[in-house]
Amino acid sequence: MRIFRVFIKLILLVAFTLPLLPTTSHAATAAKRLFGAKALPASLKAAAHGFYSKGCIAGAKAIPIDGPNWQVMRLSRNRRWGHPDLVKVIEDLSYKAKDDGWNGLLVGDMSQPRGGPMLTGHRSHQLGLDADIWLRPMPDTRWNYKQRETISAISVLKKKSVYVDKKRWNRATTMLLYHAASFPNVERILVHPGIKKQLCDTVRGDRRWLNKIRPYWGHHYHFHLRIGCPPGSPGCRTQKSTGSDLGCGKLLAWWFNVAFAPKKKSKKKVVKKKKKTKKRRQLVLNDLPQACKTVLKASSVAKSNSEFRVRETAFAAVTIDMPKFSMASAMGSQPIEKKGKKQNLPSNAAIELGVDAIPVPSVRPTR
Ligand SMILES: [Zn+2]
Repeated sequence: MRIFRVFIKLILLVAFTLPLLPTTSHAATAAKRLFGAKALPASLKAAAHGFYSKGCIAGAKAIPIDGPNWQVMRLSRNRRWGHPDLVKVIEDLSYKAKDDGWNGLLVGDMSQPRGGPMLTGHRSHQLGLDADIWLRPMPDTRWNYKQRETISAISVLKKKSVYVDKKRWNRATTMLLYHAASFPNVERILVHPGIKKQLCDTVRGDRRWLNKIRPYWGHHYHFHLRIGCPPGSPGCRTQKSTGSDLGCGKLLAWWFNVAFAPKKKSKKKVVKKKKKTKKRRQLVLNDLPQACKTVLKASSVAKSNSEFRVRETAFAAVTIDMPKFSMASAMGSQPIEKKGKKQNLPSNAAIELGVDAIPVPSVRPTR
């Protein structure tokens, strides 16, 4: 009887893990399964290869789970990796924001240890050059592992509205985004259009930094910080320039007049229904730059040498009981926004967990 039970357990284990394992033929395997399986970065010089939504990173570093002015959230996802330049920006931002009244950063998703397409959510975040920072200040206490898995981010929008809730916004929030946009190597900050509007309406004096603040769907529980291709990454493809327009005029108006306008019941409804929604093909290894094969194959860096060396302080981090990384727990991680909250907007769940579920605007604005 006991042997029988062990046998059943074994079968269940195999059935559960088999679909998670990369098959022998890499050519047909979804690239997210190959990159998502890696627990540590490639032991190579830091370099980003490809584009934000189609690439990978060599020599990524992890931001420490705790710093004097930050805590990393959703640790089970193993996404606290990035190019050293990105980690440096986050570290520096945490100090600047703190000085301006923001009580430290809650750091969300960055990249997987070798970048690449992610197991769940995010089309970008593949180069180690993107980071999500929660729009909720860090608490004075240090959260434990479970709290970091379950505590939600907080939206800065008024309930059922596309505008910022003034009670959830103050000078510190503005300064957080100002400092984030002011790093020379930060090229874009993605925020909800309501946040962009809030800044356009209230920022006085030098407004040039508003150019880097780009409105996009979701992004009211967190903002998304993106640095440009770092030096030493010749294979990194630069994103189109944001030009010099502050983006407070026509582009912003489009969001409120078109994208968020109540849908008119049109006769075209029947025709629309017939339109088949094309499912986006999953990226395979051959879709990524050649260099990503080397990144994938390379041996892992030693765990002891995988964290970014932050500036020395008297800060002593609490010990976090970290379970071993597994793809299954990474995939089962909770979304960052509260569950069961009704919204009339595409929620962050769509952004974070099912990118294909995000409605595409009729005229897709540049991010
Ligand atoms: Zn993001």
